[in-house]
Amino acid sequence: NKMYMWLALQNETLVAQNRVQSDFLSVVGHEFRTALTGILGFSEMIREGDLDSDDAQEYAEDIHNDAIRLTRLINDLLDLERMKSGRVEMNWESVAINGLMQDIVTRTLIGSHRGQIQFELDEDIPPIEADSDKLTQVITNLMTNAIKYSPEGGTILVGSKWESGNIHFFVQDHGIGIPAEKMEQIFERYARVESTATRYIGGTGLGLPIVRQIVEMHHGSVWVESCLGEGSTFHVVMPAQPPQEAKAISAYTDL
Ligand code: ADP
Repeated sequence: NKMYMWLALQNETLVAQNRVQSDFLSVVGHEFRTALTGILGFSEMIREGDLDSDDAQEYAEDIHNDAIRLTRLINDLLDLERMKSGRVEMNWESVAINGLMQDIVTRTLIGSHRGQIQFELDEDIPPIEADSDKLTQVITNLMTNAIKYSPEGGTILVGSKWESGNIHFFVQDHGIGIPAEKMEQIFERYARVESTATRYIGGTGLGLPIVRQIVEMHHGSVWVESCLGEGSTFHVVMPAQPPQEAKAISAYTDL
């Protein structure tokens, strides 16, 4: 009986691994094909010549955007793989979370969103100890999704709260929402919600797994509350200070 249970468990693991591998091939294959079709097509048109400089400029821009798309895919894949296999160190430093969120909005996101981005920040939050670059990636991924999966002009609310030793921050949108049965699955690699609303929105299903991985490296948790057609709120809660043993491990591996 024990042997049977063991085999059943092994089988489940293999099926899950197999699914990740085939999702990997379909996402990477699709992304590469789309980007390369653009790069080949536009470079061919430039090569054939006879273009005025405005057209040439536009095609060069398209090629550039496709190349950025491929670079992002490779970076995300490698980042996630490295973090999952424990090959990425944490760089613990003092971080002002409210300032970080405001900076990300003003420096990188404000141009890509036509609607309002509002803040509801708890001014009493003390500096926390975290990895600032990795937290930037968490906040950027959540906000980029909020923009991407909302109608143009939708309001996005970014908030923070101090909860006795824990920091809680959230990103709320009034976009397409997520069906209840997908709310956990979307944190798995390559998982995307297939619907008429998402069909024309590009993506690889790597943004949220990266978010969860980084939040877990901070000993925190991330989850979503959502109502289909009304919007979603992604919450992150993590300790303001990592447990002592976590810091000791990274100090040791830094040597
Ligand atoms: P990507 O956006 O590249 O597909 P993510 O891992 O960031 O990958 O998100 C996984 C899926 O979760 C998305 O494809 C989308 O279906 C859903 N999703 C993520 N954020 C939101 C959001 N704010 N509103 C609605 N759906 C979302």
